[in-house]
Amino acid sequence: MKPVRFDYHRPATVEEAIALLTRYGGEAKLLAGGQSLMPLMNFRVARPAALIDLNAIASLAYIREDDGHVRLGAMTRQRAIEFSPVVRQRLPLLAEATALVGHLPIRTRGTIGGSLAHADPSAEYPAILTALEGTVVARGPRGERTLGASELFETYLTTSLGPDEMLVEVRVPAMPEGAGFAFEEFSRRHGDFAIVGIAAMLVVQGERCTAARLVTAGAGPVPIRLREAEEILERDGCSTAAIEAAARRAGELVDPDTDIHASAAYRRNLTRVLTGRALRRAIARLGGR
Ligand SMILES: Cc1cc2nc3c(=O)[nH]c(=O)nc-3n(C[C@H](O)[C@H](O)[C@H](O)COP(=O)(O)OP(=O)(O)OC[C@H]3O[C@@H](n4cnc5c(N)ncnc54)[C@H](O)[C@@H]3O)c2cc1C
Repeated sequence: MKPVRFDYHRPATVEEAIALLTRYGGEAKLLAGGQSLMPLMNFRVARPAALIDLNAIASLAYIREDDGHVRLGAMTRQRAIEFSPVVRQRLPLLAEATALVGHLPIRTRGTIGGSLAHADPSAEYPAILTALEGTVVARGPRGERTLGASELFETYLTTSLGPDEMLVEVRVPAMPEGAGFAFEEFSRRHGDFAIVGIAAMLVVQGERCTAARLVTAGAGPVPIRLREAEEILERDGCSTAAIEAAARRAGELVDPDTDIHASAAYRRNLTRVLTGRALRRAIARLGGR
């Protein structure tokens, strides 16, 4: 099938893009990499009156280190993130997760802003934004606002962005030096969306785990921070018993839906198994090993 007719605009600045969004009053869609939007339009699930193509706004594509944070422009391609030395050094969890996003041609076009705005619950980037306590900057006719992950993601494919707002930047605090990390996921074929994914980060001093982060992809309508599982590690350290207890708790904390890809029970079990795997791999990497 082909999309229904739509107007096409290719603004040169963010201000022009926002003016166009305002003019169409919620009936226009921003076009970033097109890797999620175009299939939806071809199936006529999305029928925007206009496309506002962001690909001519060069100022929206960058990766910069700034005051303990990494700042990524919304139009930064996933492929650029995968191979960025700054990301590899400061946000290795993001680099690892990016390699799991679709296939090479998808990452070559797909952008970080498009993935976060699309808010697919199985996508890697929403889970990473949650795990690394990053924020996004949204700009609209009334100015800018900064949103954390829990403020951005509302439910399946739905964010709190207004119809006249766009994402312009993603800000992620640099991971602590020597942190252990891993992104584990299970999908039927390489490059498919994950049935369940787990983002893990551990900070350890001596015998103590001073910070643990565990976040799901695909185990609910939005990424889920598994705080009670994290607390087990922060209290009991990273022993085999603590890892098993945290993984078990992780499986209990999620309440996924059954869909055509997997049952709720299967997703719950995957959450348990993948949390254990992610934690063991994160521990093996502690201290830059
Ligand atoms: C076969 C296939 C496999 C895939 N596998 C995975 C996978 O394993 N993991 C994964 O995470 N993704 C996967 N994807 C999706 C891919 O990562 C997309 O690139 C991503 O979800 C959307 O990014 P995009 O830049 O292409 O956005 P687009 O498709 O252009 O836009 C997506 C949505 O975001 C909105 N939008 C775009 N930019 C902005 C902005 N700056 N501000 C506000 N709204 C904006 C658009 O209007 C649209 O509603 C897959 C896609 C395909 C086709």
